[in-house]
Amino acid sequence: MEGSHPSSIITRIVNRRQSPCKRFGSMSANWDHEADSVNRRKIDMHDFSYLTGISLHEPSPRTACRQKLVPAAIVICLIILCPQCSIAEPAYPRLSPSEIPPLPAHPASQRPPTPPARHLPVRWVRESEEMAAPLRIICYHPDGVVADRAMARAIARIHQLNAVFNDYDPTSEVRRLCETAGTGKKVQVSDDLWRLLALSLKISEQTSGAFDVTIGPIVRLWRRARMSREMPPAWRFDQARQAVGYQWVRLYPEERAVELLRSGMRLDFGAVAKGYAIDAALQVMREEGVPSALIDLGGDLGLGDPPPDRHHWTVAVAAVKPGEPPSYFVRRARCGVATSGDRYRFVVIGGKRYSHIVDPRTGVGLTDQSEVTVIAPNATLADALATAVSVLGPEKGLAWVETFPDTAALYLRLVGDHTEVHTSKRWKELSGETADAQL
Ligand code: AMP
Ligand code: MG
Repeated sequence: MEGSHPSSIITRIVNRRQSPCKRFGSMSANWDHEADSVNRRKIDMHDFSYLTGISLHEPSPRTACRQKLVPAAIVICLIILCPQCSIAEPAYPRLSPSEIPPLPAHPASQRPPTPPARHLPVRWVRESEEMAAPLRIICYHPDGVVADRAMARAIARIHQLNAVFNDYDPTSEVRRLCETAGTGKKVQVSDDLWRLLALSLKISEQTSGAFDVTIGPIVRLWRRARMSREMPPAWRFDQARQAVGYQWVRLYPEERAVELLRSGMRLDFGAVAKGYAIDAALQVMREEGVPSALIDLGGDLGLGDPPPDRHHWTVAVAAVKPGEPPSYFVRRARCGVATSGDRYRFVVIGGKRYSHIVDPRTGVGLTDQSEVTVIAPNATLADALATAVSVLGPEKGLAWVETFPDTAALYLRLVGDHTEVHTSKRWKELSGETADAQL
């Protein structure tokens, strides 16, 4: 049984000031759906990526009063409870120490000059769907025209990245690259593809392949299994596994070219592309003079400068147990927050629940019912680490997260009726547990 559509379980942010312009676009090309599926329409409705990190805006009483806005935001997430299944966790080789060069953190922006009293920042919200996930941009600016232009350009940038990373679109840059796998050809790629591939390969190396950006052939098998509700035959897994291996990607830095050494290889950026798109969109907002912004793409968040008169945004992390209210919050600005888990994308076969996140060593979807939230200097890293830690498990995964600067993780796992909670050492500090005292 597939999970329910996120929109059915998320309460609305009320009394928001909507942008005066029309909503931008609608459904983008499918990101995580089988393009050739006859069930596509059905899957479109039921197979969105999960939305677990929900942003709560906390307007200052003063601003809200001045603008006659009702402050708001409520979050309720339900989780589908399925029987706990377990598989033996494979022993990954020792993880190497952190070598990943830090991606640019979201810097404190040059705030625009303080506007005159009659032009106080106003809250603007825009919602649509991008990369087959719900997108919400919240920002503050005194001028609606400026805010709207910034949001439109941010969304256009996400569209542009969809055309690079969309695995379902045979004309996307990544699909065209995969067409050359095993032919001995190297292909020059765009800056965006180069940057995200280089980062993904480093994460793949550091996790000894627990995270693997070449997981595409196995992920395809599981997508089909989600639709047919049948376990693919073993020979299919064997065949797919032969085309998986980050070590079969060769980079030519001088030419910014890539060669995929084995035929049938398929890169899959599903674990990182949303985070990357969020960072790119926040960057656009900043360049457009709207640094006070939050971007939520399918539950992965990029936090820019905080709302006026506040020190932080507040984000609720949904409880892993169905029906329970969130008990963890992140109070931060200028960082990324991402959550990975099997809340909305899983399949039950033979009474066992399998996640859309796959263990590359076994080829099998994870059977732990868990939810991993990562706070990192940017959304790209948060997104990548949340998926990687889901595969690594709490012990290895959280120890590894601690090797990254300004990064922390929360690992929630449902065991029977009980939620196990694991946190990395800096979770309390970086989630701003005491931030309410500040403002
Ligand atoms: P996320 O929702 O960010 O955790 O990413 C999940 C997506 O990452 C899946 O839908 C796959 O496209 C991809 N994926 C699944 N397993 C892995 C893995 N072990 N390593 C890298 N990417 C994966
Ligand atoms: Mg991810």
